[in-house]
Amino acid sequence: MRGGRAQGPAHAGWAFGRTSARPRGHAYAGRGGHNRCVAIRSSQLDRLRGGSFDVLVVGGGINGAVTLAALAGRGASVALIDRGDFGNFTSQASSNLVWGGFKYLENYEFLLVFKLCRSRNRLMKAYPDNIKEISFLASLDRSSPFPPWFAALGAAGYWGIGQFGTRHPRLLSARKIRDEEPVIDTTHVRGGIEYRDAYLVDNDSRFVFSFVRSALESGATAANYVELVSADRVGDRWVARLRDVDTGEAFTTSAKVIVNAAGPFVDGLNRSWGVSTQHRIVLSKGIHLVVPRLTTNDHRRVLAFFDDTQRLFYVIPMGARSVIGTTDTRVDEPCTEVDDADRGFLLEQINNRLNLQRPLTRDDVIAERCGVRPLVVKASEGDQKNVDWTSLSRKHAVEANERMRLVTVFGGKLTDCLNVGEEVAAEVEKLGVPLERDLQNWYGEPAPATRAEFYRQAKLIRLDSLRAKPDVEPLSDRLWRRYGRRAFTMLEAIRDDPRMGQDIMENADYLRVELHQAATTELITRLEDFMRRRSKIEQVVRDEDIRSCAGLEEVARILFGNDADRRLKEYLQS
Ligand SMILES: Cc1cc2nc3c(=O)[nH]c(=O)nc-3n(C[C@H](O)[C@H](O)[C@H](O)COP(=O)(O)OP(=O)(O)OC[C@H]3O[C@@H](n4cnc5c(N)ncnc54)[C@H](O)[C@@H]3O)c2cc1C
Repeated sequence: MRGGRAQGPAHAGWAFGRTSARPRGHAYAGRGGHNRCVAIRSSQLDRLRGGSFDVLVVGGGINGAVTLAALAGRGASVALIDRGDFGNFTSQASSNLVWGGFKYLENYEFLLVFKLCRSRNRLMKAYPDNIKEISFLASLDRSSPFPPWFAALGAAGYWGIGQFGTRHPRLLSARKIRDEEPVIDTTHVRGGIEYRDAYLVDNDSRFVFSFVRSALESGATAANYVELVSADRVGDRWVARLRDVDTGEAFTTSAKVIVNAAGPFVDGLNRSWGVSTQHRIVLSKGIHLVVPRLTTNDHRRVLAFFDDTQRLFYVIPMGARSVIGTTDTRVDEPCTEVDDADRGFLLEQINNRLNLQRPLTRDDVIAERCGVRPLVVKASEGDQKNVDWTSLSRKHAVEANERMRLVTVFGGKLTDCLNVGEEVAAEVEKLGVPLERDLQNWYGEPAPATRAEFYRQAKLIRLDSLRAKPDVEPLSDRLWRRYGRRAFTMLEAIRDDPRMGQDIMENADYLRVELHQAATTELITRLEDFMRRRSKIEQVVRDEDIRSCAGLEEVARILFGNDADRRLKEYLQS
């Protein structure tokens, strides 16, 4: 099983014997064994080496990615580096929910919930195909902290705080819950509620990458596997020493301002510069287990339960799978792993609440996700060891140091990302980097007219009837959601060569044309970048099925050309 840890990949002795479909004379016409992925990354590295930027963003999680997009969209010359892949750390371990945080009402965080709901509504409007409203069905048994009627009042309040941005909540009897979701064991259930929030249809790290991609289109520079080794103020600029983690090459780049968006690592970087801040980070570990689909109905619903510690946990849809999570454990180090106690805890909790034909066991776990929430606290508030851990706020803080020309992003949520981008841009501007007016065109999906044109063209080539395999969704929806404007060239490629519209791996929903698209536009350095973050294949397909899949060789070859053998070996040995 893959996942469950911060970083990954490794299995030797792989060689290619198979031939595969080669694109014929269209947008993706291949050039023999050329490594197209390395070509696009090299051009980014060329811009970084000896470069001179307005802003250097350290960290390519959600906070760094929105910062890059917001600044590039407003005309700054900006570069982003991450020592792993984009979205490789906390931002690949979330619950994939875009939400106001109903549960934060328990801590009376009305303002935070109001702001998060507003951010949720804004994201839902900007990303109608990527971020969809979803129903949460919360079952309350006799040991739950609230009776159903009280939870329903809370849900009505939550709906109001969220400015009625979703469909209305409902109070449900135990019988209604049983009718609507027979998998829930209602023996001890008193009733429940249905309320609504939203979720990322694809994964969190792909969402992160979408900001990097749009920033590149606005002229930004971004490179994965580039580490900030150190940075010093020289005159009125930062000179940053960087290391290409993939090749070991060292080089420098300079910038007027640094944005520290290193997530759980922000304090360490600030300490290395001798900078003291008003805020700092404490860490809370959360894990998820991906298992075969558990819900019975349309699989468009999150199930919510209180665990034995009275903390809410969820069963969340992910493609054809269900994701159980999460936990909330204080840790001191950012790098964590799912341990057997975490696994055992979640399995026990869910088995006690569902009517399954047989209880879920560790063998049912397809993949694991593990990360640490960077929670922001006041630096003056000590180590927080005696506070109720789960009650710590999920808000973020953006702090600027004028003397050092440094902006730090502490904490935050995927849900709050647009605010983070805007707040960081405002601070950068105050530090003397002139920005153009914010036309708010650095985020969001293309205009409805562009979408309608895509669907028209997709219909002309009968895209949705190309598939032999039963799908969770029509191909046109999938391609549009994942690629937006870039999906037009994919239609062209499929029109020119029907093999482009075929699945590349028998057990994953990816067309050959998507790989060609990824090779030229998605800054993939290692095979894991594609398997885990640009796609969610690693999360929904068992490791042994990935390893035995014939199509994997072709995936590597399309991405890495004559370097495919090495990249595949590196991946399989991880
Ligand atoms: C279990 C869990 C569930 C969650 N669920 C949700 C949810 O459902 N909805 C929601 O809105 N939020 C959720 N969150 C919160 C959200 O995921 C995080 O707040 C967010 O991902 C943090 O992003 P970040 O950019 O600050 O940090 P990260 O994603 O960790 O990014 C920081 C990056 O900095 C890089 N870096 C560090 N040091 C260096 C260096 N020296 N040089 C170069 N790069 C460096 C790292 O490699 C890393 O990629 C959840 C979090 C967890 C842990």
